[in-house]
Amino acid sequence: MPRKFFSKKRSIAQEQDILSLPAPTEPPKLTSRRIGIHTSSSGGAQNAAERAYRLGCNTLQIFSSSPRQWAPYELKKSHCDEMLLLRKKYDLNPLVIHTNYLVNLAGTTESFLKKSIEAFRGEVERALALCAAYLVLHPGSFRGADREQGLLRTAAAIRAATQALDLEKGGLTILIENTAGAEYSLGGTFEQVAEVLEHLRGLVPIGSCIDTCHTHVAGYDIVSEAGMKETLAQLDATIGLKEVRVWHCNDAKAARGSRLDRHQQIGKGTIGLEPFRWLLNDPRLAHAAFIAETPIDQPGDDRRNVETLKSLVEPSGNGRPA
Ligand SMILES: [Zn+2]
Ligand SMILES: [Zn+2]
Repeated sequence: MPRKFFSKKRSIAQEQDILSLPAPTEPPKLTSRRIGIHTSSSGGAQNAAERAYRLGCNTLQIFSSSPRQWAPYELKKSHCDEMLLLRKKYDLNPLVIHTNYLVNLAGTTESFLKKSIEAFRGEVERALALCAAYLVLHPGSFRGADREQGLLRTAAAIRAATQALDLEKGGLTILIENTAGAEYSLGGTFEQVAEVLEHLRGLVPIGSCIDTCHTHVAGYDIVSEAGMKETLAQLDATIGLKEVRVWHCNDAKAARGSRLDRHQQIGKGTIGLEPFRWLLNDPRLAHAAFIAETPIDQPGDDRRNVETLKSLVEPSGNGRPA
């Protein structure tokens, strides 16, 4: 997700909060895939579950605290309980949490790294309290060191931050997200993400989240059919398709290879509609959740993007995720 994601554009969502509209009279039509969108937790995490349901989702992603503040954040037990109840009632799975943007686990300044590790530990604790399945993390920025050291630092920091927390028991897996690869940011190639996973395998439950916009602007071809085939083959050979538990489904405003991370509505950018159809219908990816992080330019864009993704899933007959 780009840093700009939660800025101005997102505020339209507040004005047109789906919770202020009449509740739907019947449950949304679902597909054989898990499809959702990054959803506002305004008013408490439990509100995100109600919003996601009303947006037509059967999975969701949230921030568990303010995405741009260091202040420690305590979740209310009652909010966590209600979140779990609503998720059961609406069958909203998996719950994905996206880490705060300030966290940089590859940081080279001692004090900043310490702050990041503490903040990330808070993320893990809140993810456990919310019974989330996944916590998505960008591998960080290696400014001040070299890339190889950066990847090692990130892996070491994840270990340090999760010390004495039982992720396995909590059913929580940390997902390393690939990035647009701008400047010093780690994770611009599948190999770099795979390397972080390699350092942590057997130590912390770990997997990956692949963002279509990041993949495209980092230079991979997912637009031509042959290109998508080749890109998925590379992904399988490095990270492994099974390890990709979440696909961030975002179209891109910028050109392939530009390293500019600007998300666009599904089908309206430089990626276009077809690549999303291929991903959603690939049986090798059926285990994953598909979650949009698209901008809200017009009220209702969130609902429409979920609708668009769902419309691309070919009927499989059983109507339930594999
Ligand atoms: Zn992200
Ligand atoms: Zn993303």
